[in-house]
Order: sequence, then structure tokens, then C-alpha cells
Amino acid sequence: MTLYKKLGLDSTIGIIGGGQLGKMLAVAANTMGYKTIILDPSDKACARVVCDEFICGAFDDEAALKKLAEKADLITYEFENIPASSIKLLEDEGAYIPQGFHALAISQDRLREKKALEKAGFKLADYRKVDTRQDLEKAVEEMGLPCILKTRSGGYDGKGQVSIDSLEDLDQASKLLEVACILEKKLKFDKEVSAVCVKSVKGDLDILPIGINEHRNGILHISLVSHESKKIEEIEKAVENFFEEFQITGILTIELFIVDGHLVANEIAPRPHNSGHWSLDGANVSQFEQAIRAITGLELIKSKALANTAMINLLGQHYEYLEKYIDDLGSFSKIHLYGKDGNIYNRKIGHINIVDDDMESLEEKVNLVDKLINNG
Ligand code: ADP
Ligand code: MG
Repeated sequence: MTLYKKLGLDSTIGIIGGGQLGKMLAVAANTMGYKTIILDPSDKACARVVCDEFICGAFDDEAALKKLAEKADLITYEFENIPASSIKLLEDEGAYIPQGFHALAISQDRLREKKALEKAGFKLADYRKVDTRQDLEKAVEEMGLPCILKTRSGGYDGKGQVSIDSLEDLDQASKLLEVACILEKKLKFDKEVSAVCVKSVKGDLDILPIGINEHRNGILHISLVSHESKKIEEIEKAVENFFEEFQITGILTIELFIVDGHLVANEIAPRPHNSGHWSLDGANVSQFEQAIRAITGLELIKSKALANTAMINLLGQHYEYLEKYIDDLGSFSKIHLYGKDGNIYNRKIGHINIVDDDMESLEEKVNLVDKLINNG
């Protein structure tokens, strides 16, 4: 029997991290009647305006963490780079953190992540642990080119990785070796997809309809979910094993490649995911509501897409065109802006969801939006 705590409807949910994911989690929690308290190092964190209480403090600030533990009935997080020591401190203070630390620890180290995914039964690209130039040369010889060298921790949006397409790239790639790395075989994938998976503290599991993702400059550009998108049976067992083996509850996203019709796992994120934002308008339950339901002990909703849905990311450089062409974006563009402090180049400031029963018409709208936000 699973032991869990069912939260009263007037409880307070603590969220570590006050970016857009924390904001959308807080809005979902608030809609369901919970109070929210958010911890973030920046006093301009965009989630600040939607929470009941805000604590400004670093993620390892003991006093701030203790305050959070004292005031929140349950704590969750919106990002994966929280120090293990902070979670330990919160637990020592008696905090209830159903998402736990296992998924964080796994996602903070690509080597540990690969081994965990492999253990659960996912297929992976061939990889090697690489710490020195010698390791790198040996791994390249064994695996053949092309490959990608990635830092084991700290990478995001394509940062902390170098492609090695020919031996001439080795010198450039070696510069990454100041920190521990892994070398991965570069796959010729047909598509990139992601599975937003949610396991409730009661033990129920739901996988949101799978979105197809397209990146530009290493940053997610669009996620597309077809009305007919099936929950992919091929990975269901591995997803179940993964949650079970590592005692994970709450929300966790698995990024995958489709190679020759098969799914190959890339990495995990133990939190709501950018590729799941389509569900705010295109599904019967958003990833944020489902995440809150999972940790508070409510029943999960069996998720489904209501129609074909596309989510297009808005970056800092798109803001001026969004303003300029706002009328042309039409009634079909559901605009979500996060209220970030400044519109920084290549930083996510919002997204647009488009929902349409007809795939061709959806694609036309996507092309129009893409054109408009890039200066018409
Ligand atoms: P992060 O999202 O943390 O920056 P990822 O491992 O997801 O790191 O890599 C970013 C992008 O680089 C992926 O979405 C994919 O487009 C590409 N990529 C990563 N690993 C591989 C691989 N082994 N083969 C081919 N492309 C890859
Ligand atoms: Mg990724």
C-alpha cells in the first residue's frame, strides 16, 4: 500500500522556483483552491504576482528554506537544479515533498540519467563516460562519428554540448572537458517527441498525448499534438518501470527521438515541460493541473487532446512583432505571456497555442504566426 497524505483544499503549496513554470503551477493550484508560496532568488520573478506569498532567497538559503518548510503543507519544484542539500534541509524541517529527490538527482547528471533510463527498459543512443582527452579519443574510435559531447550537468537549451562531426572538431570539443562529460552517438532521428508523465501519490499514472517537437538553435520552437495522437504503448511499460524503480511521484517529462520508427530516450525533466504547454488550451486537463492533482492526492484526469494543437514559443526578440501584429494574430492565437523582467534575446517570454480540428488549417495558422512574430 502506498502511504500518502491527502491535502485539505485550503492547504498551502510551496513551489521552489518562480519562473513561468512556477507561475503556471501556482495558477493551477490557486484555481483549485490551494494557497501558494513561492521561493525564488529574484525579487522580479514572474510568478511573484500570482502567489499568495513570496520568499526572496537563494535556493540554498537556509533561513528562506526553513520559512518555506514552516509555511507550506506540501512543497514541489519547477526546475531540476536544486541542490540536494536544500531538499535534505527541507525534509529535516519536516516538509512533505512528494516529488522527492530521486528524479532530481537522476536528471542532474546525464550519466546517472542514461543508466536509470536504461535500467527502466528505454532504448538509448550509444554513450560513453568521458573525463579526459584520452577518454574522448578512445570513445570516438569505438563509437565512430558523428557524436555529441555533453557536460554531465548544468546543460540546457543546447548549452554545454558540442557536435563532433569530424576529427577536426576534437580540439574545440576538448574545451568542454574542464568538467565531466559524456559522449553520445549523434542519431539521425525522424522526429523529436516528448512524453509528459504524471504519477499520483495514490499510484495512478497518466501520460499526456505525445507532442512532436521542433527546435531552432537548440531551443524548442514548436510542439504539435495531433488529435489522433496515441499514448505510445511502446514506452508505457518503461515509463511505469522508471517511476516504480526510482520511487518517483508527480510530474516528469521524458524527451525522446523517433529513429526508424522506434523510440529512443534522450533525457528527463522532473517538472512540467515547455512541450506540455499545449495542454493549457488543447487538452481536457493541463499538465499543471495534473501535476497539482498528483501531489495533493486527488484523482488524476485521464488526459486527452480535444483537437489538434500547436504551441509556438515566444522569445525576447519576438515581443516587438507580437505588439506590432497583435491584430493580425487573429482570434485563433491564444497568447500566453509570462510577464518576465525584460525581453531578452533567445529567452522564452511566452507562447501561443493554436487549436484546430483540421490539421491543414492548423498548419496554415502556424506558418502565419511564425511569419508575423519574425517581423511579418
Ligand atoms: P538540453 O535540452 O538539456 O540542452 P538535449 O540532450 O535535449 O539537451 O539536447 C538538445 C538538442 O540537441 C536535442 O533536443 C536534439 O535536438 C539534439 N540532440 C541531443 N542529443 C542528440 C543525439 N544523441 N543525437 C542527435 N541529436 C541530439
Ligand atoms: Mg532537452
